[in-house]
Parts: sequence; C-alpha cells; structure tokens
Amino acid sequence: MPQQYLLCSDLDRTILPNGHQEESPGARKLLAKLAGQPQIKLAYVSGRHKKLLQDAIVEYDIPTPDFAICDVGTTIYTTSHNEWQPCLDWSAKIGADWQGKTAGNLIELLADLNSLTLQEPEKQNSYKLSFYTPVAIDLPPLRATIRDRLEQAGIKAGIIFSIDEMAKVGLLDILPSSADKLQAIKFLMAHEGFSDSHTVFAGDSGNDLSVLTSGMKSILVRNADNNVREEAQRYLAATDQLQQLYLAHGGFSGMNGNYAAGVLEGFYHFFPEVHQGGIPLANNNHY
Ligand SMILES: [Mg+2]
Repeated sequence: MPQQYLLCSDLDRTILPNGHQEESPGARKLLAKLAGQPQIKLAYVSGRHKKLLQDAIVEYDIPTPDFAICDVGTTIYTTSHNEWQPCLDWSAKIGADWQGKTAGNLIELLADLNSLTLQEPEKQNSYKLSFYTPVAIDLPPLRATIRDRLEQAGIKAGIIFSIDEMAKVGLLDILPSSADKLQAIKFLMAHEGFSDSHTVFAGDSGNDLSVLTSGMKSILVRNADNNVREEAQRYLAATDQLQQLYLAHGGFSGMNGNYAAGVLEGFYHFFPEVHQGGIPLANNNHY
C-alpha cells in the first residue's frame, strides 16, 4: 500500500476564510485536489459540533473529511459514504476523567462566576461545557478558581480559552483532561495506524496550541493570531523543536499563505515528496 499521509486541520480561520484577511482565489479548490489524492487522509479538528462542522463543509465547499474531531476534541467521527460514526471508545476513555458526571452536572459548581456566560445548548455536549467571557478577561485568576472548584469535586478537567475575533468574545471550554485536540489526534493516529512522520496539523489560534506545541509537525497559517505564533515559537524554541513548526508566509503557487493556502504551503514544506507523486497543483507557481 502506498504511504498514507494524515492531514489534520482546524477549520475556522485555518481552512475557512472567515477572518479579516483575504483568501487567495482558488486556495480551497487546490486543497480539495490534495485531499482527493488516495494517499491523503483528511481530518478536521474543530471546536464546532458535528452539525456546525457539516454546515461549514457545504457553506464553504470544502471536502468531506475521512475523520472529524469535533467539539475541541471531545468527539471523534469516522466518515464513510456520508455516514458519520461516533467513536465510542473515545467517549469512554475521556468520560472516565469526570467520574460519571457530564457537563450539566458541573454548571452549578461555577454558577456564581459573573464573567462566565453559558454558551447555547447546541454548543455543549456530555463532555464539553462551554462559556463566553469578555475578550479582556483576566484569565489566570479565573482559570485558577475554576480549576480549584473542579478539583475539589474530583473532576479532572482541562480549561481551554480562545478568542472569537469576529464576534469579539472570549470562548472558554471545560473538557475532560484527556480530551483536547492533541490527545484526540493521537488517539486517532493510534486507532488508524498513522505515524508521527506522516502526520501534520494546521491551526491558527489558542485552542490549537496543545497541538502546535506538542512537537507534532504543525503549520500556522499566515493569518494566525500573533500571540499564538509567538507562544508556539517560544515554547518550541525552549524544547529545541522549532523545526516541527512551519509558519506560512505566502508564495506557494502564487498564493498569500492565509487559510487553505497556508495549509497547502505547510503540507508541501513537510512532505515535498508528495510533489513527485503526480499532484499537478504543486508543480505550478503561476496559479
Ligand atoms: Mg481556528
């Protein structure tokens, strides 16, 4: 069997051009060509829940993935002939962190924290409790308070914060401690037999940092948050793994490096041999 590559990518503002910066025309079409190659498997890794992720596929005309890691890593789906099968092994694994409790049971522990506003019901699931915060929140003390309360209740949880720059709001997700984008990707790789050497991840923002700083081959699209770029670089420099992170800067096939163009630029940086596999888009610089 030919070598299989796993391309994992965040969606919002990584593949989807829903940020302030311009998208190069045709970038998503080229990404679809890459994903259509039989040796490429595609996994979307998103904060979105399944329905919102499926909506994005239609709205932005992007390829149906082979796998979908949704809800910031708390759900994994395998897709086949448009059937999305949840991975029950993953739910069982992460559910153990919350000792039989689900998100609804945790709300009362945090109900008096004024800076937290519960997100809409469709953005919650059994193992994802999500709040809005003001953008300018003083995060460290809030994080410490949440952590203390959950620990006292025997809940092992991770707290993930990012900013929705379009909506100008902070997003704070509480997840089982063994559920985040990185651990979900690692589980998927082990489950499906993908190696570290042939897996790459692309992202743009704070909720991608667990992967970007893990030492996994990673791409930051050019439109990524500056503070995320700096934090990822600082962390990787300290652990002597800077070569595992590619910062898209534009120029690949004449494109600007934002969104899907940046994902492609990074993919071919790590896997130039795929150029020689007969993918026509990689050979032209005039697109
Ligand atoms: Mg994003």
